[in-house]
Amino acid sequence: MTERTGDPFRDLADSSLNFLQRFGVDPADRSAIEDRIMIFEEEVRELTEAVREGTDLNHIGEEAADVIVTIITMCHSAGVDTEALIEQAYRVVAKNDAKTHETHIFKDGKIRRRKA
Ligand SMILES: [Mg+2]
Repeated sequence: MTERTGDPFRDLADSSLNFLQRFGVDPADRSAIEDRIMIFEEEVRELTEAVREGTDLNHIGEEAADVIVTIITMCHSAGVDTEALIEQAYRVVAKNDAKTHETHIFKDGKIRRRKA
């Protein structure tokens, strides 16, 4: 049983890797990359279907968590561990926090860098 640390991403990663190991699956097995990609794509499809349906918010959240799990396991298979994922997540946080209306604009459904 994974103990709640107050860090849900790390807890989900630890739980997911422990889950694989409990079933004899090596999370770092590079030969499993195609299987992990296939599972990731399945989970993304389930999430997008749930979002498009838009009626069961708990189901959307559940599918979103499934996608995060598959991202974690796919990345581990590719050699990117939990600490590296967390570091990258904080780099994205810093980049997002640095974007302003002076540097970026919302256009065509996406926030884009303003042209100089
Ligand atoms: Mg799912």
